[in-house]
Amino acid sequence: MTPLIKELKQTGNLPDLQLKQLLQTDDYNEELFAAADEVRRENYGTDVYIRGLIEFSNFCTNNCYYCGIRSGNTSAQRYRLTIDEIFECAQTGYALGFRTFVLQSGEDDYFSDDIICEIVSGIKKRHPDCAVTLSVGEKPYESYLRYFNAGADRYLLRHETASQELYSKLHPGDMSLTRRLQCLHDLKKIGYQTGSGFMVGVPFQTAENLIEDLRFLQELQPHMIGIGPFLRHAETPFKNYENGGFLLTLKLIAILRLMFPRATIPATTALGTVAKNGREQGLKCGANVVMPNLSPLKYRKLYTLYDDKICTGEEAAECVGCLRRRVESAGYKIVVDRGDSKVF
Ligand code: SAH
Repeated sequence: MTPLIKELKQTGNLPDLQLKQLLQTDDYNEELFAAADEVRRENYGTDVYIRGLIEFSNFCTNNCYYCGIRSGNTSAQRYRLTIDEIFECAQTGYALGFRTFVLQSGEDDYFSDDIICEIVSGIKKRHPDCAVTLSVGEKPYESYLRYFNAGADRYLLRHETASQELYSKLHPGDMSLTRRLQCLHDLKKIGYQTGSGFMVGVPFQTAENLIEDLRFLQELQPHMIGIGPFLRHAETPFKNYENGGFLLTLKLIAILRLMFPRATIPATTALGTVAKNGREQGLKCGANVVMPNLSPLKYRKLYTLYDDKICTGEEAAECVGCLRRRVESAGYKIVVDRGDSKVF
């Protein structure tokens, strides 16, 4: 093991310059990946946690330049699931062995705090042994508190980028990094298992920006960290930019595992989209979560954050079967478990 990787593994940290060196070399860094896998096995064995993703609305009031469901995309066909449809997704997922449901949407005011609380408490009542994760964007402290009191266990809100300068190149002027970071601090304070993360290879991003992301996460100490490559969408201002790099994303997953040994880290759908067997590779580099889609088939293709998204054509049961085989082929095992983060 090179001294650099040894230091990162033993101390969970490296100075900026060395991190930059790891990120900028163009190699398939087997030693880095093996070290990350070792740390993952020390903390989570070969367990892979599954999260049933329910994408319940693609309406969005935000206009992020990278995202396919941005409000400015007038060609997007919009949909909302009814509360009963959401409960049905959870029911199907429960039968398939899911013990965590992730409710994700655009920023859709139709889903008032009352409705979100009704959905959360309804799922918790039907499946008391399950965790509910929300991923519905930026909300006031009081709203987060209400969802938590209704039974929500976890919240995903990627910070997207910790650089003020880059943030303003990716978002219109009415969006604010300061507000987003405040949300993350609020979520942690309330007691959520909190997830953050960023996109890799988004337009204008530098290695320094990525290091800023790592430093921000060290400060936040989230329970969950989700990253994935930026992928272009034809109906966005970023339609002509390159997709984020696969190898760079793998390296960052490995670095994150070494920096945050006990965090849960998903091998994301975006990673599976950018490369064949991308998620399996992610698992081998330190990721320990996969998030199959439980949304009804008829809406799957409409939740299009980026082009060519995988897994939009199969029923949930097929998806889980396929993923189980993939996970096993990589040397791991999907478990029936809430899969709580071991960060406390
Ligand atoms: N409205 C919620 C959910 C957003 S979608 C929120 O604001 O948190 C979930 C994540 O998808 C985003 O946080 C972003 O990191 C990612 N995403 C959006 N567009 C993407 C793209 N074009 N390529 C890759 N990831 C993208």
